[in-house]
Formats: sequence, C-alpha cells, structure tokens
Amino acid sequence: MPAPPTLRRLIAERDRGRCAYCLTTEENCGLRMHIDHIIPESADGPTTPDNLCLICFSCNVYKSAQQTGIDPLTGEGASLFHPLQQQWEEHFSWDENKIQIVGLTPTGRATVVALQLNNPTVVRARRRWVSAGWHPPKD
Ligand SMILES: [Zn+2]
Repeated sequence: MPAPPTLRRLIAERDRGRCAYCLTTEENCGLRMHIDHIIPESADGPTTPDNLCLICFSCNVYKSAQQTGIDPLTGEGASLFHPLQQQWEEHFSWDENKIQIVGLTPTGRATVVALQLNNPTVVRARRRWVSAGWHPPKD
C-alpha cells in the first residue's frame, strides 16, 4: 500500500529530504525521493513510520525486496542496513574524496554491494556535488 500524503510528508521531514541509504538529497538529484518499506510489504512490512524511510530512485531499484546481502569481505550473509534502528555513521563512512561510500561492518559492506551505493552514475554525480560544495550533506 502506498504511503498516504500526510504520512509521506512526515517521513520526508523526518528524513530531511534525503535517501536514508546513500544520503543523496532531493536538491542534488532533482528527483522526488521514493518511500521505502524497510521490511518489504512482500514480507508483511507495515506502512507505518517505523518501517518507512526516504529512498532515492537508484537505491530503491537495487534494494527491491531484499533484506539481506553478502559481505564481500567474508562471503557471508548479512542484514541490510536498517535506517531507523541503526546509525549510518556506525556502518558507513565516506572515502577521502567524499565520493565513495565505504562499508565499515558486515551490514555496511553488504548494503554497499546490494544497493550499488557506488554505482558509476552516482559516483560521477557525487564528484560534481563535492566540487560544488553540496556534498556530503551536513548534519
Ligand atoms: Zn540512495
């Protein structure tokens, strides 16, 4: 079930107009964020604020209904990042150029791979955003 407009506004304000996974902002990508069911509807995830977050088009396409991925360091399965139950900074950081997302934990690394957080298109865009001083978003 799609999030009703009032619920969408609540999530957009709470998540400050940026993707909960890659932190891309609506201002940078020029596209309205989608609403992600963190636990997918296909796995009975509810349409309630504690299961919804903003997600960019790219992350949404790659995430699809996945809840787990593979940690490329160990080859073992790991839960994907849960934006409302986990802290982004504990699982990810930016590389020295602030362009690539580095996974710090099994969850972080599995999420980088599963959602293709460093796909070539977004990396090219981030390079421009960094040079313009628009990225990464400040807290
Ligand atoms: Zn994203």
